[in-house]
Amino acid sequence: MDFDVIVIGGGINGAGIARDAALRGMRVCLLEQDDLCHATSRWCSRLIHGGLRYLEFGELGLVRESLHERETLLRTAPHLVHPLPLLIPLFAGARRGRLTVRAGMWLYDLLSAGKSLPRHRMLDAAGARAAMPGLAGDGLRGAARYHDAQVVFPERLVLENLLAAAQAGADIRLHARVERVLVADGRVGGVVVRDHQGSSDTVSAPLVVNAAGPWVDQLLETLDEPPRRHFIGGAKGTHIVVDRLPGLGDSACYAEAAADGRPFFIIPWNGMTLVGTTDIAFSGDPATVASDPAEIDYLLAEAGRLFPQADWSRQAVHYSYVGVRPLPAASGRDQAAITRRHSVRHHRREALGLYSVIGGKLTTYRSLAEEVVDRLARRLGRELARCSTAGSPLPGATHDPLPLAADLSLRCGLDPAIATRLVGLYGGRAAGIGELVMHERGLATPLGNSGAIAAELVFAFEAEMAGSLADCLMRRTMLGLAPDRGAGVLEDALAVCAASLGWDGARRAAERAGFLAEVAALQPPA
Ligand SMILES: Cc1cc2nc3c(=O)[nH]c(=O)nc-3n(C[C@H](O)[C@H](O)[C@H](O)COP(=O)(O)OP(=O)(O)OC[C@H]3O[C@@H](n4cnc5c(N)ncnc54)[C@H](O)[C@@H]3O)c2cc1C
Repeated sequence: MDFDVIVIGGGINGAGIARDAALRGMRVCLLEQDDLCHATSRWCSRLIHGGLRYLEFGELGLVRESLHERETLLRTAPHLVHPLPLLIPLFAGARRGRLTVRAGMWLYDLLSAGKSLPRHRMLDAAGARAAMPGLAGDGLRGAARYHDAQVVFPERLVLENLLAAAQAGADIRLHARVERVLVADGRVGGVVVRDHQGSSDTVSAPLVVNAAGPWVDQLLETLDEPPRRHFIGGAKGTHIVVDRLPGLGDSACYAEAAADGRPFFIIPWNGMTLVGTTDIAFSGDPATVASDPAEIDYLLAEAGRLFPQADWSRQAVHYSYVGVRPLPAASGRDQAAITRRHSVRHHRREALGLYSVIGGKLTTYRSLAEEVVDRLARRLGRELARCSTAGSPLPGATHDPLPLAADLSLRCGLDPAIATRLVGLYGGRAAGIGELVMHERGLATPLGNSGAIAAELVFAFEAEMAGSLADCLMRRTMLGLAPDRGAGVLEDALAVCAASLGWDGARRAAERAGFLAEVAALQPPA
């Protein structure tokens, strides 16, 4: 079948573009070389934020757009995106003093006008300590308290965009690597794609979107006549994950690093604490990016300065991860000053109909997708439906999780805590897991002490495009991101897959090895 558009990349931007284009009536094929959300879109700070920091660089337009999109996501994905209170502690001698922070807060509120989250409040030292009891007392002058939002699992945000795209008719092909973009007479005509079994195929379309994140330039290199310049100037960022920090209270801490004045976050996340990030120029192959030991030490030292009572030894780190920001190339500029605004490049000279997405944020993926699909629609020249993504809830969206969980527990005989977890992770789609349990009681069996049940694995394969155990545990059930990196559920999960999906011994061994290889990548550098 021929398509109207091929989208390369199953990160947040590719998924958002595929959903928008399919909802408008385009025939869409999305190609992802690995599993969905395998790269930058999961190795980030997981914040849906206006980008307070960008105010320092005068990026008012980007902040306004981000705040608008934050509100849209709180409305259309309330099961995945939640309000998050943040505290900016103010210490004597910091680069950004009380007046600067207050001015920033005031402007942020102004740009958030009409939004649902509370306005900022300035606190004195006692108020700051009350809100965040573990904060260092030395030199603490007060704090600013404000709100942004958090997407605990961007993996599931990407998945739900792809599910919506597929529901609207898009053909989603995972483990399909684009090896070449085909051009004839100056026009793009399709791509050559290789699947994980090694067979190669040609997919045709008059429009191709290169949403390959940090791989954008590599993709362009496959053209017969590649552009003469590079568009991406990668910047790697590392996070560490440690135990829940009681002294953090219910807020995230947004602070200035003593070493270099860079702002960084300490965030309550997934029952633990996420600390990040670093920001270091990176020009290598994104597939081989790794953290330096010095990045881990930097994060531990800075967090330890703020919360001196907690354990910030290397042994306290459950795991770490690193991603490459696909920032626009800007040689010689300070990393932090490079714009986080995206741009969409039409490669008219090399291949009419080929577009590349440069930069962007998780937060603004929907508006980015709208902009891209508007441009595709104009080029296609066909009457299409208008963009509807700002008003369409994602497949699992629910504003009322409590009654849903109570109903699931009652109907399916599930423990209330299990039902609550299911609705928390899958939203309204948890009903599909309930149906599996009603059909086969054995699927209510717990997986280790994780709070998850066997039915989630079957659901991942049957209804969520998982192809391997690693897909299931790392990007569907999210059990691989627990403190033990999924070790406590591995054997149970393999047993469920053997019983319910018929995996033989060889398949189980291969799946175990595949999963362990993925979690090994989360081991912090020595
Ligand atoms: C450390 C860090 C912290 C961040 N924090 C935040 C934050 O808190 N909030 C926020 O809004 N943004 C944040 N960002 C930015 C945000 O994560 C990224 O801008 C966004 O995820 C980019 O998404 P993407 O879809 O363009 O790229 P990716 O998620 O990298 O997706 C690109 C996909 O293309 C695929 N691909 C590549 N080549 C091929 C090929 N040849 N064939 C098929 N598929 C291919 C890759 O496998 C990959 O899955 C952060 C980024 C980093 C690195």
